Amino acid sequence: MSSLIDSPDSPRLEALCKKLAQAASSLEDGCDWPSEQLDWCAQAGVFRWFHRPADGGLGWNEADLCRGYVALSRACLTTAFVITQRVGACRRIAGAANEKLKQRLLPPLLKGETFATVGISHLTTSRQHWKKPVLLATEEAEGFRLVGSSPWVTGAPYADWLVIGAVTEDNRQVLVAVPTDQEGVDAPPGIRLAGLTASQTGPVHFDHVLVPHADVIAGPSADVMGRGKGASTGGLQTSALAIGLADAAIDYLETEAQRRPNLAIPASRLREQWELEYERLLRLAIEDEPSAKSRLRQRANSLVLRATQVALGAAKGAGYVWGHPTNRWCREALFFLVWSCPQVVADANLCELAHGPDFFT
Ligand SMILES: Cc1cc2nc3c(=O)[nH]c(=O)nc-3n(C[C@H](O)[C@H](O)[C@H](O)COP(=O)(O)OP(=O)(O)OC[C@H]3O[C@@H](n4cnc5c(N)ncnc54)[C@H](O)[C@@H]3O)c2cc1C
Repeated sequence: MSSLIDSPDSPRLEALCKKLAQAASSLEDGCDWPSEQLDWCAQAGVFRWFHRPADGGLGWNEADLCRGYVALSRACLTTAFVITQRVGACRRIAGAANEKLKQRLLPPLLKGETFATVGISHLTTSRQHWKKPVLLATEEAEGFRLVGSSPWVTGAPYADWLVIGAVTEDNRQVLVAVPTDQEGVDAPPGIRLAGLTASQTGPVHFDHVLVPHADVIAGPSADVMGRGKGASTGGLQTSALAIGLADAAIDYLETEAQRRPNLAIPASRLREQWELEYERLLRLAIEDEPSAKSRLRQRANSLVLRATQVALGAAKGAGYVWGHPTNRWCREALFFLVWSCPQVVADANLCELAHGPDFFT
């Protein structure tokens, strides 16, 4: 118990993040699944931060969770990102009306003995322009039969359980838990990405997989993602991770600025913006303002893209060499343009990038 990180102020969180930061570069070399990093997090009780004591969690409030995410992503974005997907799956299970399913799956998940991840983007931000659902669920007497694919599932080849969204023939949505060892489930190794390849993300295919009623988490209903908490798009966690990565880049710049006076103004300008976004993040963790959350995501995306590129510019050619953290941070920052990005945020970011410097003169 004594090694649990029970608050974001705990020196044990600092120690964990130091270890994660030291290991972050090597993750990119081998593109290996961060199993060691996730074990450290499990031992420190990180997976329990996000759940109520009644469910075996530590019951951190939203502001503390944001602080925790900022610290983790500042140290290692891959590990922090994998945790968000794990948490998305676990929170959906914890929020299920299906009490038996919850009792069966949640305790080993919170201890880190099993791993669950989530494939729901095709209900919200992916394949929305397709006429037919990418993953169809047909209701039968014993449950739902899944045919098709979930296009993006982080860590699927390493998962015990998948929390998957699918669409029925009458256009309702259903959220189900599927064990990865079930016949008909194919979770190939993750695809090579511009960054975060070690997150082992890729599609999962379902070839007539029967999900019994006992493993249905929610639905069928019109908007299954609107119910309960978990992996919703545009949530604060995405902004928290962007703000954490921006922090790492600005930190680097501040260190360089100590011996290079030309970097002092960019470093302090970025730090001022960072402080503002961090404050907004913690405020929005308490106040429920959906439109302000979207604006925060847009600003956090802008900040992380600019901060990481300024860091690379400061690192010069050396920063462009493989293995230097600044080019990894730049590639990782691009992820925020595409990850769980509501259309309004994506449009605003593209507009900002498209306008160019003359727009502001
Ligand atoms: C590294 C990574 C990890 C992820 N992990 C997860 C995860 O664990 N779980 C999860 O649920 N999701 C995950 N996602 C999904 C993510 O949140 C987004 O849903 C995803 O990035 C959206 O991109 P898409 O290519 O699927 O979008 P789509 O909208 O499907 O676009 C695909 C392509 O279709 C074309 N297109 C798009 N819109 C139109 C249009 N209107 N008309 C015509 N053509 C169009 C474009 O050519 C585009 O390139 C992950 C994504 C990434 C990149």
